[in-house]
Amino acid sequence: MYHTAGIAFENRSGSAKRAKAIIFGRKEQVGDICKLIENSYSQVTLAETSRELEKSGPDKETFRLAVMTDSFSEKLSIGLLNRVRQKFAPENMICLSGEIEEDNEITLRSAGLIFLGSYGTFFAHAENIIKHTLNNGGNNAMKPEIETARNLEKRLKGARASGRSRRKRLSFLITSAIAETAARSIELLIALAVTVTLFIPVLLIRLITRIPSGQPVFSRRTVCGMAGQPITIRTFSELKGRMADLPLFLELFTGRLALAGTAIREWDTPDPNAEQAYISMVKPGIISLWDIRRTSKIAHEGREAIEWEYIFSKRPAYDLLLLLRALPAMLYSETTSAYDPVFRLLGLDIDNITMAEAVSLIQTDLRDNRQQAIYFVNPDCLNKMAGDREYYDVLKAGDSIFPDGIGLTIAGKLLQSPLKENINGTDMLPYLCRMAAAERHSIYLLGGKPGIADEAASNINREFGVTIAGTADGYFNHETETGRIIDDINRSGASILLVAFGAPLQEKWIHHHRNRLQPALLMGVGGLFDFYSGNVRRAPRWMREIGIEWIYRIMQEPGRMWRRYVIGNPLFLYRVMKWKLLTGSGNH
Ligand code: UDP
Repeated sequence: MYHTAGIAFENRSGSAKRAKAIIFGRKEQVGDICKLIENSYSQVTLAETSRELEKSGPDKETFRLAVMTDSFSEKLSIGLLNRVRQKFAPENMICLSGEIEEDNEITLRSAGLIFLGSYGTFFAHAENIIKHTLNNGGNNAMKPEIETARNLEKRLKGARASGRSRRKRLSFLITSAIAETAARSIELLIALAVTVTLFIPVLLIRLITRIPSGQPVFSRRTVCGMAGQPITIRTFSELKGRMADLPLFLELFTGRLALAGTAIREWDTPDPNAEQAYISMVKPGIISLWDIRRTSKIAHEGREAIEWEYIFSKRPAYDLLLLLRALPAMLYSETTSAYDPVFRLLGLDIDNITMAEAVSLIQTDLRDNRQQAIYFVNPDCLNKMAGDREYYDVLKAGDSIFPDGIGLTIAGKLLQSPLKENINGTDMLPYLCRMAAAERHSIYLLGGKPGIADEAASNINREFGVTIAGTADGYFNHETETGRIIDDINRSGASILLVAFGAPLQEKWIHHHRNRLQPALLMGVGGLFDFYSGNVRRAPRWMREIGIEWIYRIMQEPGRMWRRYVIGNPLFLYRVMKWKLLTGSGNH
Protein backbone atom coordinates (compact mmCIF):
# COMPACT_ATOMS: atom_id res chain seq x y z
CA MET A 1 0.00 0.00 0.00
CA TYR A 2 1.15 3.49 -0.72
CA HIS A 3 -0.50 6.77 -0.12
CA THR A 4 -0.61 10.18 -1.64
CA ALA A 5 1.71 13.02 -0.72
CA GLY A 6 2.50 13.50 2.88
CA ILE A 7 1.05 10.14 3.95
CA ALA A 8 3.75 7.55 4.13
CA PHE A 9 3.64 3.82 4.60
CA GLU A 10 5.86 1.38 6.42
CA ASN A 11 7.95 -1.24 4.77
CA ARG A 12 6.24 -4.63 4.53
CA SER A 13 9.13 -6.47 6.09
CA GLY A 14 8.75 -4.24 9.11
CA SER A 15 12.52 -3.91 9.26
CA ALA A 16 14.15 -0.95 10.91
CA LYS A 17 15.33 0.55 7.61
CA ARG A 18 15.30 4.27 7.86
CA ALA A 19 15.56 5.37 4.25
CA LYS A 20 12.67 7.36 2.80
CA ALA A 21 11.76 7.72 -0.85
CA ILE A 22 9.36 9.96 -2.72
CA ILE A 23 7.76 9.16 -6.05
CA PHE A 24 6.21 11.69 -8.40
CA GLY A 25 3.60 10.28 -10.71
CA ARG A 26 0.01 9.06 -11.05
CA LYS A 27 -0.92 6.24 -8.69
CA GLU A 28 -2.19 3.96 -11.47
CA GLN A 29 0.98 4.50 -13.46
CA VAL A 30 3.61 4.07 -10.79
CA GLY A 31 2.14 1.19 -8.76
CA ASP A 32 4.84 -1.24 -9.82
CA ILE A 33 7.61 1.21 -9.05
CA CYS A 34 6.14 1.87 -5.64
CA LYS A 35 6.04 -1.85 -4.92
CA LEU A 36 9.64 -2.30 -5.98
CA ILE A 37 10.90 0.57 -3.90
CA GLU A 38 8.69 -0.28 -0.98
CA ASN A 39 10.67 -3.54 -0.56
CA SER A 40 13.88 -1.71 0.17
CA TYR A 41 12.72 1.57 1.68
CA SER A 42 11.00 2.02 4.99
CA GLN A 43 8.80 4.80 3.79
CA VAL A 44 7.57 5.78 0.33
CA THR A 45 5.56 8.92 -0.30
CA LEU A 46 3.64 9.57 -3.49
CA ALA A 47 2.93 12.95 -5.03
CA GLU A 48 0.65 12.98 -8.06
CA THR A 49 0.40 16.67 -8.89
CA SER A 50 2.36 19.91 -8.68
CA ARG A 51 -0.11 21.05 -6.03
CA GLU A 52 0.83 18.12 -3.85
CA LEU A 53 4.49 18.89 -4.38
CA GLU A 54 3.93 22.50 -3.32
CA LYS A 55 1.92 21.43 -0.29
CA SER A 56 4.31 18.76 0.98
CA GLY A 57 7.61 19.31 2.75
CA PRO A 58 9.98 20.95 2.96
CA ASP A 59 11.77 18.00 4.42
CA LYS A 60 15.49 18.23 3.90
CA GLU A 61 16.59 15.62 6.35
CA THR A 62 15.83 12.10 5.38
CA PHE A 63 14.88 11.52 1.77
CA ARG A 64 17.35 9.27 0.09
CA LEU A 65 15.60 8.81 -3.21
CA ALA A 66 13.26 10.83 -5.41
CA VAL A 67 11.76 9.21 -8.50
CA MET A 68 10.22 11.52 -11.05
CA THR A 69 8.06 10.00 -13.75
CA ASP A 70 6.33 11.31 -16.83
CA SER A 71 2.94 10.52 -15.29
CA PHE A 72 3.43 13.38 -12.84
CA SER A 73 1.12 16.31 -13.61
CA GLU A 74 4.04 18.41 -14.78
CA LYS A 75 6.49 17.73 -17.58
CA LEU A 76 9.92 16.47 -16.53
CA SER A 77 12.18 19.46 -16.55
CA ILE A 78 15.09 20.96 -14.80
CA GLY A 79 12.76 23.39 -13.04
CA LEU A 80 10.75 20.48 -11.60
CA LEU A 81 13.93 18.73 -10.48
CA ASN A 82 15.08 21.90 -8.84
CA ARG A 83 11.86 22.32 -6.89
CA VAL A 84 11.93 18.71 -5.74
CA ARG A 85 15.53 19.11 -4.72
CA GLN A 86 14.81 22.32 -2.84
CA LYS A 87 11.96 20.71 -0.91
CA PHE A 88 13.44 17.31 -0.14
CA ALA A 89 17.16 17.45 -0.94
CA PRO A 90 17.09 13.77 -1.89
CA GLU A 91 20.50 12.18 -2.08
CA ASN A 92 19.60 10.39 -5.30
CA MET A 93 17.28 11.33 -8.11
CA ILE A 94 15.87 9.14 -10.82
CA CYS A 95 13.88 10.28 -13.85
CA LEU A 96 11.75 7.80 -15.73
CA SER A 97 10.07 8.56 -18.99
CA GLY A 98 8.69 6.73 -21.95
CA GLU A 99 10.35 9.26 -24.21
CA ILE A 100 13.16 11.58 -23.25
CA GLU A 101 13.63 14.59 -25.47
CA GLU A 102 17.21 14.89 -26.55
CA ASP A 103 17.68 18.54 -25.79
CA ASN A 104 16.15 18.00 -22.37
CA GLU A 105 18.46 15.09 -21.75
CA ILE A 106 21.71 17.03 -21.40
CA THR A 107 20.28 19.40 -18.85
CA LEU A 108 18.49 16.68 -16.93
CA ARG A 109 21.70 14.69 -16.76
CA SER A 110 23.71 17.61 -15.53
CA ALA A 111 21.37 17.83 -12.55
CA GLY A 112 23.15 14.91 -10.94
CA LEU A 113 20.61 12.19 -11.64
CA ILE A 114 21.77 8.69 -10.93
CA PHE A 115 19.47 7.30 -13.55
CA LEU A 116 17.64 8.76 -16.51
CA GLY A 117 15.87 6.35 -18.76
CA SER A 118 12.85 4.38 -19.78
CA TYR A 119 10.66 2.31 -17.49
CA GLY A 120 11.83 -0.89 -19.23
CA THR A 121 15.50 -0.21 -18.58
CA PHE A 122 14.74 0.79 -15.04
CA PHE A 123 12.83 -2.41 -14.28
CA ALA A 124 15.48 -4.56 -15.92
CA HIS A 125 18.08 -3.17 -13.55
CA ALA A 126 15.99 -1.88 -10.71
CA GLU A 127 17.61 -4.09 -8.16
CA ASN A 128 21.05 -2.71 -8.90
CA ILE A 129 19.86 0.86 -9.17
CA ILE A 130 17.97 0.73 -5.89
CA LYS A 131 20.92 -0.96 -4.22
CA HIS A 132 23.09 1.95 -5.34
CA THR A 133 20.73 4.41 -3.78
CA LEU A 134 20.76 2.59 -0.45
CA ASN A 135 24.25 1.31 -0.03
CA ASN A 136 26.34 4.35 -0.61
CA GLY A 137 25.59 6.10 2.62
CA GLY A 138 25.30 9.82 3.15
CA ASN A 139 27.43 11.20 0.35
CA ASN A 140 26.57 8.77 -2.35
CA ALA A 141 25.78 11.61 -4.73
CA MET A 142 29.52 11.85 -5.21
CA LYS A 143 30.50 8.21 -5.40
CA PRO A 144 32.01 6.75 -8.59
CA GLU A 145 29.34 4.02 -8.65
CA ILE A 146 27.04 6.61 -10.07
CA GLU A 147 29.25 6.99 -13.08
CA THR A 148 29.11 3.21 -13.47
CA ALA A 149 25.34 3.27 -13.24
CA ARG A 150 25.15 5.98 -15.85
CA ASN A 151 27.48 4.13 -18.21
CA LEU A 152 25.49 0.96 -17.72
CA GLU A 153 22.34 2.80 -18.50
CA LYS A 154 23.83 4.35 -21.60
CA ARG A 155 25.06 0.99 -22.88
CA LEU A 156 21.72 -0.65 -22.24
CA LYS A 157 19.81 2.09 -23.95
CA GLY A 158 22.17 1.89 -26.92
CA ALA A 159 21.80 -1.90 -27.17
CA ARG A 160 18.03 -1.85 -27.04
CA ALA A 161 17.46 1.04 -29.31
CA SER A 162 15.45 0.46 -32.41
CA GLY A 163 16.88 1.36 -35.82
CA ARG A 164 15.39 4.84 -35.88
CA SER A 165 16.04 5.78 -32.28
CA ARG A 166 19.52 4.27 -32.50
CA ARG A 167 20.25 6.69 -35.33
CA LYS A 168 18.84 9.53 -33.26
CA ARG A 169 20.83 8.38 -30.27
CA LEU A 170 23.98 8.12 -32.36
CA SER A 171 23.59 11.59 -33.78
CA PHE A 172 22.93 12.89 -30.27
CA LEU A 173 26.08 11.21 -28.95
CA ILE A 174 28.15 12.48 -31.88
CA THR A 175 26.87 16.05 -31.48
CA SER A 176 27.56 16.05 -27.76
CA ALA A 177 31.00 14.49 -28.27
CA ILE A 178 31.85 17.17 -30.86
CA ALA A 179 30.59 19.92 -28.58
CA GLU A 180 32.55 18.53 -25.62
CA THR A 181 35.73 18.16 -27.68
CA ALA A 182 35.37 21.66 -29.09
CA ALA A 183 34.86 23.07 -25.62
CA ARG A 184 37.88 21.21 -24.24
CA SER A 185 40.03 22.34 -27.20
CA ILE A 186 39.02 25.96 -26.65
CA GLU A 187 39.83 25.55 -22.97
CA LEU A 188 43.29 24.16 -23.73
CA LEU A 189 44.00 26.85 -26.32
CA ILE A 190 43.08 29.58 -23.86
CA ALA A 191 45.17 27.88 -21.17
CA LEU A 192 48.13 27.80 -23.55
CA ALA A 193 47.70 31.41 -24.64
CA VAL A 194 47.41 32.71 -21.06
CA THR A 195 50.35 30.60 -19.89
CA VAL A 196 52.66 31.84 -22.64
CA THR A 197 51.63 35.48 -22.76
CA LEU A 198 50.90 36.20 -19.10
CA PHE A 199 51.77 33.44 -16.67
CA ILE A 200 55.39 32.83 -17.77
CA PRO A 201 56.39 36.55 -17.96
CA VAL A 202 54.79 37.30 -14.56
CA LEU A 203 56.41 34.19 -13.09
CA LEU A 204 59.85 35.24 -14.36
CA ILE A 205 59.50 38.75 -12.94
CA ARG A 206 58.40 37.35 -9.60
CA LEU A 207 61.21 34.80 -9.50
CA ILE A 208 63.72 37.60 -10.07
CA THR A 209 62.16 40.03 -7.58
CA ARG A 210 61.09 37.72 -4.79
CA ILE A 211 63.49 34.77 -4.60
CA PRO A 212 66.62 36.84 -3.62
CA SER A 213 64.76 38.32 -0.65
CA GLY A 214 63.40 34.92 0.33
CA GLN A 215 59.76 35.85 -0.32
CA PRO A 216 57.43 33.10 -1.54
CA VAL A 217 56.24 33.29 -5.14
CA PHE A 218 53.06 31.29 -4.67
CA SER A 219 50.55 30.85 -1.94
CA ARG A 220 48.63 27.61 -1.64
CA ARG A 221 45.11 26.90 -0.60
CA THR A 222 42.94 23.85 -0.41
CA VAL A 223 39.70 24.08 -2.30
CA CYS A 224 36.85 21.78 -3.11
CA GLY A 225 37.54 19.89 -6.33
CA MET A 226 35.21 17.80 -8.37
CA ALA A 227 33.18 15.22 -6.44
CA GLY A 228 33.98 16.97 -3.18
CA GLN A 229 37.65 15.97 -3.23
CA PRO A 230 40.11 18.48 -1.74
CA ILE A 231 42.64 19.88 -4.18
CA THR A 232 45.52 22.25 -3.53
CA ILE A 233 45.77 25.18 -5.89
CA ARG A 234 48.39 27.89 -6.20
CA THR A 235 47.98 31.60 -6.73
CA PHE A 236 50.64 34.29 -6.93
CA SER A 237 51.19 35.53 -3.40
CA GLU A 238 50.66 39.21 -2.65
CA LEU A 239 49.45 40.05 -6.12
CA LYS A 240 46.19 41.89 -6.51
CA GLY A 241 43.17 41.21 -8.68
CA ARG A 242 42.83 38.52 -11.31
CA MET A 243 46.62 38.52 -11.91
CA ALA A 244 46.99 36.49 -8.71
CA ASP A 245 44.88 33.77 -10.32
CA LEU A 246 47.15 33.27 -13.33
CA PRO A 247 48.65 30.00 -11.97
CA LEU A 248 45.14 28.57 -11.98
CA PHE A 249 45.33 28.32 -15.75
CA LEU A 250 47.89 25.51 -15.34
CA GLU A 251 45.12 23.50 -13.70
CA LEU A 252 43.29 23.51 -17.01
CA PHE A 253 45.99 21.21 -18.35
CA THR A 254 45.67 18.86 -15.39
CA GLY A 255 41.88 18.97 -15.72
CA ARG A 256 41.37 19.67 -12.01
CA LEU A 257 39.75 23.00 -12.82
CA ALA A 258 37.65 24.02 -15.79
CA LEU A 259 37.70 27.40 -17.45
CA ALA A 260 33.99 27.82 -16.74
CA GLY A 261 32.41 25.94 -13.89
CA THR A 262 31.01 26.23 -10.42
CA ALA A 263 32.70 28.80 -8.19
CA ILE A 264 35.90 27.76 -6.45
CA ARG A 265 34.99 27.08 -2.83
CA GLU A 266 37.34 26.64 0.11
CA TRP A 267 37.53 23.01 1.18
CA ASP A 268 36.26 22.85 4.69
CA THR A 269 34.70 19.51 5.30
CA PRO A 270 34.95 15.93 4.02
CA ASP A 271 31.24 15.67 4.77
CA PRO A 272 29.40 18.25 2.70
CA ASN A 273 25.65 18.68 2.90
CA ALA A 274 23.44 17.46 0.09
CA GLU A 275 23.44 20.86 -1.65
CA GLN A 276 27.21 21.08 -1.68
CA ALA A 277 27.53 17.47 -2.74
CA TYR A 278 25.32 18.12 -5.75
CA ILE A 279 27.13 21.32 -6.65
CA SER A 280 30.50 19.61 -6.49
CA MET A 281 29.41 17.17 -9.18
CA VAL A 282 30.30 19.92 -11.63
CA LYS A 283 33.95 20.89 -11.94
CA PRO A 284 34.90 24.21 -10.37
CA GLY A 285 35.96 26.81 -12.88
CA ILE A 286 38.26 29.82 -12.98
CA ILE A 287 35.22 31.66 -14.21
CA SER A 288 31.82 31.08 -12.66
CA LEU A 289 28.35 32.54 -12.90
CA TRP A 290 28.52 33.34 -9.18
CA ASP A 291 31.70 35.38 -9.62
CA ILE A 292 30.24 37.28 -12.58
CA ARG A 293 27.02 38.11 -10.73
CA ARG A 294 28.92 39.04 -7.59
CA THR A 295 31.23 41.30 -9.54
CA SER A 296 28.30 43.06 -11.20
CA LYS A 297 26.68 43.32 -7.74
CA ILE A 298 23.55 41.48 -8.79
CA ALA A 299 24.07 38.20 -6.93
CA HIS A 300 20.89 38.81 -4.95
CA GLU A 301 19.67 35.21 -4.97
CA GLY A 302 22.63 34.00 -2.98
CA ARG A 303 25.41 31.63 -3.86
CA GLU A 304 23.69 28.27 -3.86
CA ALA A 305 20.75 29.39 -6.00
CA ILE A 306 23.16 30.88 -8.55
CA GLU A 307 25.31 27.75 -8.59
CA TRP A 308 22.18 25.75 -9.30
CA GLU A 309 21.16 28.08 -12.08
CA TYR A 310 24.58 27.49 -13.60
CA ILE A 311 24.47 23.73 -13.20
CA PHE A 312 21.05 23.59 -14.85
CA SER A 313 22.11 25.79 -17.73
CA LYS A 314 25.52 24.24 -18.27
CA ARG A 315 26.33 23.13 -21.76
CA PRO A 316 29.30 23.99 -24.01
CA ALA A 317 27.60 26.95 -25.71
CA TYR A 318 26.48 28.38 -22.35
CA ASP A 319 30.03 28.11 -21.00
CA LEU A 320 31.36 29.94 -24.03
CA LEU A 321 28.91 32.79 -23.44
CA LEU A 322 29.90 32.80 -19.78
CA LEU A 323 33.51 33.40 -20.83
CA LEU A 324 32.43 36.35 -22.97
CA ARG A 325 30.43 37.74 -20.05
CA ALA A 326 33.41 37.34 -17.72
CA LEU A 327 35.60 39.71 -19.74
CA PRO A 328 33.63 42.94 -19.19
CA ALA A 329 32.73 41.81 -15.67
CA MET A 330 36.48 41.79 -14.93
CA LEU A 331 36.50 45.56 -15.36
CA TYR A 332 34.38 45.93 -12.25
CA SER A 333 36.12 43.27 -10.20
CA GLU A 334 37.78 44.35 -7.02
CA THR A 335 39.91 42.61 -4.48
CA THR A 336 38.68 44.06 -1.24
CA SER A 337 36.18 42.43 1.02
CA ALA A 338 36.10 45.42 3.38
CA TYR A 339 33.02 47.55 2.83
CA ASP A 340 32.15 50.92 4.31
CA PRO A 341 28.61 50.85 5.74
CA VAL A 342 27.86 54.11 3.96
CA PHE A 343 28.98 55.22 0.50
CA ARG A 344 29.38 58.99 0.47
CA LEU A 345 28.80 60.39 -2.99
CA LEU A 346 28.08 63.96 -4.06
CA GLY A 347 26.99 64.85 -0.55
CA LEU A 348 24.63 61.89 -0.10
CA ASP A 349 24.99 59.01 2.34
CA ILE A 350 24.10 55.96 0.30
CA ASP A 351 23.46 52.75 2.25
CA ASN A 352 26.01 50.10 1.37
CA ILE A 353 24.18 46.88 2.18
CA THR A 354 23.03 43.73 0.44
CA MET A 355 19.55 43.15 -0.92
CA ALA A 356 18.87 40.63 1.85
CA GLU A 357 19.95 43.16 4.48
CA ALA A 358 17.80 45.89 2.90
CA VAL A 359 14.69 43.71 2.86
CA SER A 360 15.32 42.58 6.41
CA LEU A 361 15.60 46.21 7.58
CA ILE A 362 12.36 47.04 5.81
CA GLN A 363 10.71 44.02 7.43
CA THR A 364 11.70 45.25 10.90
CA ASP A 365 10.43 48.77 10.21
CA LEU A 366 7.14 47.40 8.92
CA ARG A 367 6.73 45.23 12.00
CA ASP A 368 7.37 48.24 14.21
CA ASN A 369 5.14 50.39 11.98
CA ARG A 370 7.99 52.90 11.72
CA GLN A 371 7.50 55.10 8.67
CA GLN A 372 10.38 55.03 6.21
CA ALA A 373 10.90 56.93 2.98
CA ILE A 374 13.27 54.95 0.78
CA TYR A 375 14.78 56.24 -2.46
CA PHE A 376 16.96 54.69 -5.14
CA VAL A 377 19.56 56.75 -6.97
CA ASN A 378 21.14 56.00 -10.34
CA PRO A 379 23.54 58.22 -12.34
CA ASP A 380 20.59 59.98 -14.03
CA CYS A 381 19.09 60.87 -10.63
CA LEU A 382 22.41 62.24 -9.43
CA ASN A 383 22.80 64.29 -12.62
CA LYS A 384 19.33 65.73 -12.02
CA MET A 385 20.20 66.39 -8.40
CA ALA A 386 23.19 68.51 -9.46
CA GLY A 387 20.80 71.16 -10.83
CA ASP A 388 17.94 70.70 -8.41
CA ARG A 389 18.59 71.77 -4.83
CA GLU A 390 15.12 70.71 -3.69
CA TYR A 391 15.69 67.15 -4.94
CA TYR A 392 19.00 67.06 -3.04
CA ASP A 393 17.27 68.21 0.17
CA VAL A 394 14.51 65.63 -0.29
CA LEU A 395 17.03 62.81 -0.74
CA LYS A 396 18.97 64.00 2.31
CA ALA A 397 15.76 63.92 4.34
CA GLY A 398 14.96 60.34 3.24
CA ASP A 399 15.55 57.44 5.62
CA SER A 400 17.54 55.25 3.23
CA ILE A 401 19.09 55.75 -0.18
CA PHE A 402 20.04 52.68 -2.20
CA PRO A 403 22.55 52.52 -5.09
CA ASP A 404 20.92 51.63 -8.41
CA GLY A 405 22.88 50.55 -11.45
CA ILE A 406 26.31 49.87 -12.77
CA GLY A 407 27.20 53.61 -12.74
CA LEU A 408 27.15 53.58 -8.95
CA THR A 409 29.29 50.42 -8.88
CA ILE A 410 31.87 52.17 -11.06
CA ALA A 411 31.68 55.25 -8.83
CA GLY A 412 32.31 53.01 -5.81
CA LYS A 413 35.35 51.56 -7.55
CA LEU A 414 36.68 54.99 -8.51
CA LEU A 415 36.26 56.26 -4.97
CA GLN A 416 37.77 53.10 -3.49
CA SER A 417 34.62 52.40 -1.57
CA PRO A 418 33.25 49.25 -3.22
CA LEU A 419 29.54 48.66 -3.15
CA LYS A 420 28.21 45.43 -1.72
CA GLU A 421 25.28 45.10 -4.10
CA ASN A 422 23.31 47.02 -6.65
CA ILE A 423 19.91 47.62 -5.10
CA ASN A 424 17.20 48.82 -7.44
CA GLY A 425 13.44 48.75 -7.12
CA THR A 426 12.85 46.28 -9.94
CA ASP A 427 15.24 43.71 -8.48
CA MET A 428 13.97 44.34 -4.97
CA LEU A 429 10.30 43.86 -5.80
CA PRO A 430 10.21 40.02 -5.71
CA TYR A 431 11.95 39.93 -2.32
CA LEU A 432 9.80 42.75 -0.98
CA CYS A 433 6.58 41.10 -2.16
CA ARG A 434 7.46 37.66 -0.80
CA MET A 435 8.30 39.21 2.55
CA ALA A 436 5.11 41.29 2.48
CA ALA A 437 2.99 38.24 1.58
CA ALA A 438 4.50 36.24 4.43
CA GLU A 439 3.97 39.08 6.91
CA ARG A 440 0.49 39.90 5.57
CA HIS A 441 1.30 43.44 4.47
CA SER A 442 -0.52 44.85 1.48
CA ILE A 443 0.81 47.17 -1.21
CA TYR A 444 -0.62 50.22 -2.98
CA LEU A 445 0.68 51.01 -6.47
CA LEU A 446 0.63 54.67 -7.45
CA GLY A 447 1.95 55.88 -10.79
CA GLY A 448 2.35 55.05 -14.46
CA LYS A 449 -0.01 55.72 -17.32
CA PRO A 450 -3.70 54.87 -16.80
CA GLY A 451 -4.18 51.10 -16.59
CA ILE A 452 -0.50 50.27 -16.11
CA ALA A 453 -0.61 50.01 -12.31
CA ASP A 454 -3.68 47.73 -12.60
CA GLU A 455 -1.90 45.41 -15.01
CA ALA A 456 1.20 45.41 -12.80
CA ALA A 457 -1.01 44.75 -9.75
CA SER A 458 -2.57 41.61 -11.18
CA ASN A 459 0.81 40.29 -12.36
CA ILE A 460 2.47 41.01 -9.02
CA ASN A 461 -0.40 39.43 -7.11
CA ARG A 462 -0.36 36.35 -9.31
CA GLU A 463 3.41 35.94 -9.15
CA PHE A 464 4.10 36.64 -5.49
CA GLY A 465 0.76 36.11 -3.78
CA VAL A 466 0.90 39.51 -2.09
CA THR A 467 -2.30 41.55 -1.65
CA ILE A 468 -2.50 44.72 -3.72
CA ALA A 469 -4.65 47.07 -1.66
CA GLY A 470 -5.22 49.62 -4.42
CA THR A 471 -3.86 51.34 -7.50
CA ALA A 472 -3.97 54.78 -9.11
CA ASP A 473 -2.29 56.15 -12.20
CA GLY A 474 0.32 58.88 -11.99
CA TYR A 475 -1.32 61.44 -14.26
CA PHE A 476 -3.64 63.17 -11.80
CA ASN A 477 -3.67 66.88 -11.09
CA HIS A 478 -1.19 67.29 -8.27
CA GLU A 479 -2.75 70.60 -7.19
CA THR A 480 -6.35 69.49 -6.94
CA GLU A 481 -6.39 65.70 -6.72
CA THR A 482 -3.62 64.82 -4.28
CA GLY A 483 -6.03 64.86 -1.30
CA ARG A 484 -8.33 62.33 -2.96
CA ILE A 485 -5.41 60.06 -3.83
CA ILE A 486 -4.02 60.22 -0.28
CA ASP A 487 -7.45 59.38 1.15
CA ASP A 488 -7.70 56.39 -1.14
CA ILE A 489 -4.24 55.16 -0.12
CA ASN A 490 -4.98 55.54 3.60
CA ARG A 491 -8.40 53.90 3.28
CA SER A 492 -6.85 50.92 1.49
CA GLY A 493 -4.97 49.97 4.65
CA ALA A 494 -1.77 49.32 2.66
CA SER A 495 1.47 49.19 4.65
CA ILE A 496 3.60 49.68 1.57
CA LEU A 497 3.22 52.50 -0.97
CA LEU A 498 5.19 52.29 -4.20
CA VAL A 499 5.26 55.59 -6.08
CA ALA A 500 6.24 55.48 -9.75
CA PHE A 501 6.27 58.99 -11.23
CA GLY A 502 9.97 58.90 -12.18
CA ALA A 503 12.68 60.86 -10.37
CA PRO A 504 12.60 63.47 -8.88
CA LEU A 505 8.80 63.92 -8.98
CA GLN A 506 8.10 60.76 -6.96
CA GLU A 507 10.66 61.58 -4.24
CA LYS A 508 9.33 65.13 -3.89
CA TRP A 509 5.72 63.89 -3.73
CA ILE A 510 6.57 61.35 -1.03
CA HIS A 511 8.53 63.93 0.93
CA HIS A 512 5.83 66.60 0.84
CA HIS A 513 2.98 64.29 1.77
CA ARG A 514 4.61 61.74 4.05
CA ASN A 515 3.01 63.23 7.17
CA ARG A 516 -0.45 62.60 5.77
CA LEU A 517 0.33 59.16 4.38
CA GLN A 518 -0.36 56.17 6.61
CA PRO A 519 1.65 53.37 4.93
CA ALA A 520 4.84 52.60 6.84
CA LEU A 521 7.00 52.11 3.77
CA LEU A 522 7.07 54.84 1.11
CA MET A 523 9.23 54.03 -1.85
CA GLY A 524 10.01 55.75 -5.16
CA VAL A 525 10.28 53.10 -7.86
CA GLY A 526 10.54 54.84 -11.27
CA GLY A 527 9.54 52.74 -14.25
CA LEU A 528 8.85 49.59 -12.20
CA PHE A 529 5.16 49.28 -13.10
CA ASP A 530 6.02 49.54 -16.79
CA PHE A 531 8.21 46.45 -16.41
CA TYR A 532 5.77 44.47 -14.29
CA SER A 533 2.78 45.30 -16.47
CA GLY A 534 4.70 43.78 -19.36
CA ASN A 535 4.57 47.00 -21.39
CA VAL A 536 8.30 47.63 -21.25
CA ARG A 537 10.72 44.73 -21.37
CA ARG A 538 13.60 44.60 -18.99
CA ALA A 539 17.06 43.98 -20.41
CA PRO A 540 18.09 40.31 -20.39
CA ARG A 541 20.13 39.19 -17.42
CA TRP A 542 23.38 38.82 -19.39
CA MET A 543 23.21 42.53 -20.30
CA ARG A 544 22.82 43.43 -16.64
CA GLU A 545 25.72 41.12 -15.78
CA ILE A 546 28.06 43.02 -18.04
CA GLY A 547 26.67 46.40 -17.08
CA ILE A 548 24.95 47.40 -20.32
CA GLU A 549 21.30 47.48 -19.31
CA TRP A 550 21.35 51.15 -20.31
CA ILE A 551 22.13 50.24 -23.94
CA TYR A 552 18.99 48.13 -23.96
CA ARG A 553 16.94 51.03 -22.63
CA ILE A 554 18.32 53.35 -25.32
CA MET A 555 17.35 50.79 -27.96
CA GLN A 556 13.82 50.65 -26.53
CA GLU A 557 13.18 54.38 -26.24
CA PRO A 558 15.94 56.15 -28.20
CA GLY A 559 14.14 59.51 -28.22
CA ARG A 560 13.82 59.75 -24.45
CA MET A 561 16.85 57.77 -23.32
CA TRP A 562 19.80 58.77 -25.48
CA ARG A 563 20.35 62.03 -23.63
CA ARG A 564 19.98 60.31 -20.25
CA TYR A 565 22.69 57.78 -21.01
CA VAL A 566 24.90 58.97 -23.88
CA ILE A 567 25.40 62.39 -22.34
CA GLY A 568 24.42 61.48 -18.78
CA ASN A 569 26.89 58.63 -18.19
CA PRO A 570 30.09 60.55 -19.02
CA LEU A 571 28.72 63.59 -17.20
CA PHE A 572 28.13 61.46 -14.12
CA LEU A 573 31.67 60.03 -14.25
CA TYR A 574 33.01 63.58 -14.58
CA ARG A 575 31.04 64.58 -11.47
CA VAL A 576 32.34 61.56 -9.58
CA MET A 577 35.94 62.44 -10.45
CA LYS A 578 35.38 66.05 -9.46
CA TRP A 579 33.91 64.87 -6.16
CA LYS A 580 36.94 62.64 -5.66
CA LEU A 581 39.30 65.58 -6.18
CA LEU A 582 37.26 67.80 -3.88
CA THR A 583 37.07 65.30 -1.07
CA GLY A 584 40.56 63.87 -1.36
CA SER A 585 40.10 60.15 -0.92
CA GLY A 586 36.48 60.46 -1.98
CA ASN A 587 34.56 58.51 0.56
CA HIS A 588 35.92 59.83 3.79
N1 UDP B 1 4.95 58.97 -14.67
C1 UDP B 1 3.82 59.23 -13.93
N2 UDP B 1 3.40 60.51 -13.78
C2 UDP B 1 4.06 61.56 -14.33
C3 UDP B 1 5.23 61.30 -15.06
C4 UDP B 1 5.65 59.99 -15.20
O1 UDP B 1 3.21 58.30 -13.42
O2 UDP B 1 3.61 62.69 -14.15
C5 UDP B 1 5.39 57.58 -14.82
C6 UDP B 1 5.66 57.13 -16.22
O3 UDP B 1 4.46 56.69 -16.83
C7 UDP B 1 6.63 56.00 -16.00
C8 UDP B 1 7.39 56.39 -14.75
O4 UDP B 1 6.62 57.45 -14.17
O5 UDP B 1 5.93 54.81 -15.75
C9 UDP B 1 8.78 56.92 -14.97
O6 UDP B 1 9.50 56.05 -15.70
P1 UDP B 1 11.05 56.25 -16.01
O7 UDP B 1 11.41 55.16 -16.93
O8 UDP B 1 11.33 57.66 -16.40
O9 UDP B 1 11.63 56.03 -14.57
P2 UDP B 1 13.10 55.64 -14.12
O10 UDP B 1 12.97 54.24 -13.58
O11 UDP B 1 13.99 55.71 -15.30
O12 UDP B 1 13.37 56.68 -13.08
